[in-house]
Amino acid sequence: MKLVFLGPPGAGKGTQAQRIMREYGVIQISTGDLLRANIRNNTVLGIEAAKFINQGDLVSDDLIVNMIKNELEYQDMDNGYLLDGFPRTLPQAKVLDKMLKDRDEDLNAVLVLNVPEEDLIKRLSGRRTCSRTGKTFHMVFNPPKPADLIDINDLYQREDDKEETVKRRLEIYRNQTQPLIEYYTKKGKACEIDGTGNLTDVFGRIKSVLDKVIKDQINN
Ligand code: AMP
Repeated sequence: MKLVFLGPPGAGKGTQAQRIMREYGVIQISTGDLLRANIRNNTVLGIEAAKFINQGDLVSDDLIVNMIKNELEYQDMDNGYLLDGFPRTLPQAKVLDKMLKDRDEDLNAVLVLNVPEEDLIKRLSGRRTCSRTGKTFHMVFNPPKPADLIDINDLYQREDDKEETVKRRLEIYRNQTQPLIEYYTKKGKACEIDGTGNLTDVFGRIKSVLDKVIKDQINN
């Protein structure tokens, strides 16, 4: 399955992506995680990207497109993939169309996780990320369990999860990323999913959509 995951910051894409990977065996390619790994490793890309990320702005399309092209080249994608956080602008979506065409591939679905803004602010302010694994948790709604093998001292609050930056990220989502929903609706790919409620309920909704996608794929 070839999937794109769209949704505002804090909608739970990262957490649900982990479940989708486990259930369907696809790999997750998260541009946010790739950028944070570059920042941790102090690469040229990381240093440039951090200036934008820490302020809640988007990294330039050129940097993102180069990064994702490299990633797609060396990843083993035979079982399919879930693009999480890419595309985020119309120009990026058009580059993705071209990349897919060159690979003779098509997206099966674009999952759109919808959550009202007031919930997003609550979710993001409680979010903590593990500096070793990159896994995300919520101190109230999804705290780390013993099986996660997380040292609490490794959890940190992302600079861009602080309140003022969160507001800026939401505004950018509305202006630059939301238009992609219409773009993919016109292509018949967008599947809107209610992202409110507990993680298991949300995953149940995602699963019904994906099981239908698989069924349609088999029937075609
Ligand atoms: P995320 O973890 O997906 O919320 O991404 C964190 C930050 O990385 C975003 O707020 C952007 O600054 C940057 N970023 C991630 N993906 C993209 C993208 N496709 N285009 C531009 N900036 C991105």
